[in-house]
Amino acid sequence: MEVSHRISHITGGGSDGWDVFYKARRMIAQGVGVTELTIGEHDIRTSPAILAAMHNAAMGGHTGYAAVPGTPTLRETVARRITARTGVPTTAANILITPGGQAALFAAHLATCNAGDTAVYIDPYYATYPGTIRGAGAVPKAIVTTPDTAFQPRADTLMQMTKGAASLLVNTPNNPTGIVYATETLDAIARACITNDLWLISDEVYETQVWEGNHFSPRSLPGMAERTLVVGSMSKSHAMTGSRVGWVCGPENVINQMINLATHTTYGVPGFIQDAAEFALKQGDNVEIEVAAPFRRRRDLTLQALSRQNIVRAVPAQGAMYVMLDLRATGLSGEAFANALLDAEHIAVMPGESFGAAAAGHVRVAMTIADDQYVDALNRLIRFASGLAAQ
Ligand code: PLP
Repeated sequence: MEVSHRISHITGGGSDGWDVFYKARRMIAQGVGVTELTIGEHDIRTSPAILAAMHNAAMGGHTGYAAVPGTPTLRETVARRITARTGVPTTAANILITPGGQAALFAAHLATCNAGDTAVYIDPYYATYPGTIRGAGAVPKAIVTTPDTAFQPRADTLMQMTKGAASLLVNTPNNPTGIVYATETLDAIARACITNDLWLISDEVYETQVWEGNHFSPRSLPGMAERTLVVGSMSKSHAMTGSRVGWVCGPENVINQMINLATHTTYGVPGFIQDAAEFALKQGDNVEIEVAAPFRRRRDLTLQALSRQNIVRAVPAQGAMYVMLDLRATGLSGEAFANALLDAEHIAVMPGESFGAAAAGHVRVAMTIADDQYVDALNRLIRFASGLAAQ
């Protein structure tokens, strides 16, 4: 029996770009000590206070089917947070609670694209984007950015490449680059969406991790609230990756249709997880600042380590939990460098090519281990790259 074309072609064939990651995992299974800087996951776990809220909710009986759109109080809490942070009046009716940001991305594409429609995204990109678009039955089309614009899409390219498309997916702060989009980039995104009449899907799961300035949601720009679906998540902001809870924020009529979609797909998010998310959000900004602090610190440590040489250059990261290193001076592709580094130094980083053609010659370093180990790994990486460049 054959499975559907849609599911068998979800990854688009070829390597999924995770070969180095799997090789590192095999080495670890064989007992080799590998420093892993691959996955976007904190080195802390969900806080005991949030876990206690989850436990109490479950023990209190919130273990049956929960309200499919999300509990009224969590939807309300998310809406208030968004209103406070963006100034755009937002109510519970604008919010659908989802099992994480990934489910929100999928639902947002299903809600905005008909089968065969073009869905645009920006390269480099979070690894699931093209597959998510294909899974929703749309056709992915990448806008390839370049290192000389710090991987921000250009206004003319945005305008031209989105003609005839149904949706544009953007992500700021960005995974994998750590780039936060400039005001001009966000304005250009809004202009392209309005002129070419398409939906904006704005992935803001790293909104609490901005090192310079503030996060700005493009939903706040004039004319954008009615055509934007914002994807949010508790994963990165509250170290709740395993709890699988996030949201879509959008126009009420779209959210109503998406509730219908949720009824026929996820059937909602467990009530005790939603109660824990509500508790976490109600703890205020300090919890989020605390969760984000190690990445800000390690970004600074990265810049210090790199300042003493000029072979390895950092893409100027302003947010998220990654730093993208430009290794083109070594003459190797990101993939060849990552493989060689793993073999020689037992340090695992993600090849830039795993995130699209635009990031060739780069590697993404997840700043997700203790500071001293992180600095040691970075210094070894720099020494290794310098040795290659000198050959
Ligand atoms: N969007 C981006 C850019 C991400 O990096 C991730 C996870 O790494 C997600 C969405 C999905 O996050 P989650 O499903 O855990 O909310």
